[in-house]
Formats: sequence, C-alpha cells, structure tokens
Amino acid sequence: MPNEPTINPFETARKQVDIVADVLGLDPGVREILKSPKRTLTVCFPVRMDDGQYRVFTGYRCQYNMARGPTKGGIRYHPQVTLDEVRALAAWMTWKCAVVNLPYGGGKGGIVCDPKGMSRGELERMTRRFASEIAPIIGPEMDIPAPDVYTDSQTMAWIMDTYSMQRGYSVPGVVTGKPIALGGSEGRGEATGRGCAYVIREAAGDAGVKVKGGTVAVQGFGNAGSVAAHILQAEQGAKIVAVSDSKGGIYRPEGLNVPDVEAHKRKTGSVVGFPGAQTISNEQVLETKADILIPAALENQITKKNAERIQAKIVAEAANGPTVPEADEILYQRKIAVLPDILANAGGVTVSYFEWAQDIQGYFWDLVDVNKRLERVMVQSYEQVHKAALDHKVNNRTGAYVLAIQRVVDAIRIRGIYP
Ligand code: GLU
Repeated sequence: MPNEPTINPFETARKQVDIVADVLGLDPGVREILKSPKRTLTVCFPVRMDDGQYRVFTGYRCQYNMARGPTKGGIRYHPQVTLDEVRALAAWMTWKCAVVNLPYGGGKGGIVCDPKGMSRGELERMTRRFASEIAPIIGPEMDIPAPDVYTDSQTMAWIMDTYSMQRGYSVPGVVTGKPIALGGSEGRGEATGRGCAYVIREAAGDAGVKVKGGTVAVQGFGNAGSVAAHILQAEQGAKIVAVSDSKGGIYRPEGLNVPDVEAHKRKTGSVVGFPGAQTISNEQVLETKADILIPAALENQITKKNAERIQAKIVAEAANGPTVPEADEILYQRKIAVLPDILANAGGVTVSYFEWAQDIQGYFWDLVDVNKRLERVMVQSYEQVHKAALDHKVNNRTGAYVLAIQRVVDAIRIRGIYP
C-alpha cells in the first residue's frame, strides 16, 4: 500500500482544524483546545507467548476531547500503530461523533503488533492485559472502546470480560461491537459499510452519479469495504469492478459477484486469485475507471502523487484519513465529490451508540429498527453536511468539519473553562 510514513496523520488532523477555525473565525485559545488531545495513556506490558517467552508490547489510549460526552472510538492492532496515528484517529472520532450528533467525545486506542502472526491464545492474553492496563480510564460513562482495524467482536468480548471480572459484575456498556450474546446490537457488524452505502445513495444525485448500474472500486475488503460493496450491489444495483486487500487487488470490468469474492477470501485469505478476474495492485485499484471509489483500508492512500489520476466522480471514505489535505484540494478542483470519513464511515459508531444505549437500558431492538434509525441519522447528517458545504462555499470535508467543530465549540463554550 502506498502508505507514506512521511505524512504524519496528527499533522493532517491539526491542519484540518486550522482550515475550519479560519472559516468559523475561532479565537486562538479555542483553536488550541481543539488541536490538543486531552489525555493520552501509553502502556508497555508483557505477554506470555506460545513458546513460553515474554514479549513486551506498547499500546495507547487517547481521549481527545470529552466536551460533548464520554469518549468513544475503536482499538486497532497493527504493526504501524504510532502515538500520533492514535491521536489523529481520536481527533477524527471527536468530529465524527459530533457530525452525526451523538452525545460523545472522541477517543482511540491501538497496540503495536502483528495480529496476523499471533495465535488466538496470544491475542487473547495480549487483549486482556491491555484491557487491564487501560481499565482505570475506560468505562461506560468515561470512555467506550470498539473494534477497528484487525480487532473484532471477539476482541471486545475479552475486554468486556476482563473489565467485568475486575469490577465483580457484568459491565456490557464498557465496549461496543460485542457479540449479540453479550449485549451486542443487531446490525453493528455491518453498520460501517451500510452507513457508507446510505451516504453514497444520498450524495449520488448531487454528484451527478447513478448508483444503479454505476461502477464501484473498493480498496480494502475488510469489515467496512466488503459490506459497503455487498450492499451497493445487492440493494442499490451497482456493479463492483475492482476490490483489493493487503495482498493485492482484482479487476473485472463486467463486475465481480461480492458474495463469491467474500467466500474466496474466507477460503484463501485474500481476494487475489479470484477466478475470472485480472490481478492488479492496490495502487491501481484507486485509479480504476469507476464512478465510485471507496477507500476502506488505511490512512494516506490518496496523496498529491495519485490525486490527478483518480477517475471516480465520488470518493466515499470508509477508511479513516485515506486522503491527505493536498490531495483533497486537487480532488475538489477536479470536481470529484469526496464524502469525508467523519461522515461516510460514521455508521459504525452510530450503531455503537445504539448498542451502548440498549445496554444501559437493558432493552434490545430488532434489526429493522436499528437499520431504520441508522438510515435516518446518515440521511440527515449528509443533508446537513452538504448544506454547510454549500453555505460556506467549501468542500464536503470542510462542510462536515464546520458542522462538527461548531457543535464541539458550543459545548466547550456553554460548559465554560474550569475553574
Ligand atoms: N472504529 C470505528 C470508527 O473508526 C468505530 C468506533 C466505535 O464504534 O466506537 O469509527
């Protein structure tokens, strides 16, 4: 993946705040608050590996801003996790929760590790020890983790159990994205991809794109990308022409059948080698001729190096931070509609909010109810973002930031600065 280590995502996150602070005319003090992560915990902790040796892992949990409520955001397991990446992701969670108007601040966590090279036992021991290390600062009223890159409902079950064992009673509301059996929500598993598909459907008209019969390329075939592709194909009649994962990409101009590609990935571990499709690189997936491009992998994928070659009319960011600010500018000049991450992938945290609310009430909703409420949130948020963009004559990202940051600033102002 063209993941350029030279682009620091936290610098990007701070730059994005500056752009909006200028649009909103925020004073320097408030701007500084918005650019500063409130609380960050770094932990180094040992884990007993299967060979009997101990290995020390480094993990982070950042609570970026809690003016609007408890902090919320995922935990990612990846070899390239850094403190600044976690800070950036925590900032983006703050704006994301505000854009869809959830009563949350933003947080994020991560462990520097290679989960693909670890056994289930090693992953469980690492997860449980990390959960203990961050236990003093998480909780249903304080900070609520969730899945992110290479973590899943099983990871959340281990965290929920570890936290509950230490408390002496079950605390389902400490994490979201749990299995249904432990107080998870219907629809949470596919919520990020489903929310993204709703936003694409709403934006298509404004961007001059027809989803029915339109073509789609997806970079990243994990929880967000594969579900978005599936729903766009099954419910909106789109044709998926290219998809990729960390091992490479596949291309078939006549269209790929998503359930078959999913089955192939389950069997072989990758989309690559799917019968009847051409093998292409991850970079080529981004530059595929398609109406809609969905970056659903990692940060820093669309940069000034490839922004001129993007052929899509809509870029829907299912990943967090896939487009760097310089590339944003190029896409805007080229009249490509970018549906920014803090809107396009907010379906995940929205259903996380539903899960948390259900856990706290001890009353659970059915799938139809969850999806109806999710759709309402995504449709309304798209309309508000698009209106903010038109009103301020800015791109959708800045429109989304204007909406989000105004909400966070209002909360800061109304609360006042302590003491
Ligand atoms: N990790 C997801 C995100 O980046 C979900 C966070 C959550 O549900 O709290 O939005």
